[in-house]
Amino acid sequence: MWLNCCVQRGVRVEVDVRDQSPGFKFNDWELKGVPFRLELGPRDLEAGVVVLAQRLGDEDEDGRARKHTLNVDELVGGIAARLDAYHDLLVARAVAFRDEHTARVEDLAAFEEQVASGFAVALHCGAPACETSIQERTRATPRCVPTEGPEESGACIACGEPSAYGRRVVFARAY
Ligand SMILES: [Zn+2]
Repeated sequence: MWLNCCVQRGVRVEVDVRDQSPGFKFNDWELKGVPFRLELGPRDLEAGVVVLAQRLGDEDEDGRARKHTLNVDELVGGIAARLDAYHDLLVARAVAFRDEHTARVEDLAAFEEQVASGFAVALHCGAPACETSIQERTRATPRCVPTEGPEESGACIACGEPSAYGRRVVFARAY
């Protein structure tokens, strides 16, 4: 019944009734990226509580997901806010990861080193032949020209011709 209350708030709920161990189910849903796992034991249900574990960002010292015992009203009333907070957490982690793996580079040696593990932000002339020579040397190709950030121009990192687009270009290897 309270599961339906979650569904009515626009939250998708799957009840896993497979005849498998809890450990198997926990792992299986974690791999699928489900934000929250609810454990519903017979005694929990009798007491009107559920045990909630969040997939990421709420671990104990041993790196295991903390378990929170919530009463059902608390769960249903708070699930939308929990999902919003989890979404914000994922965005913040992704942005931090991207920023940690992005660097401005001024020469081809630094470029090559940077694209080995992330994004290189460089001036480029825009010529297809020049892109090809960069790709042959480093396996990196232009990903995008960001529309935000300062306008900039100068010499192409590879060939020295005047840069195009009025901005730096983001390069990376494709996998
Ligand atoms: Zn060039």
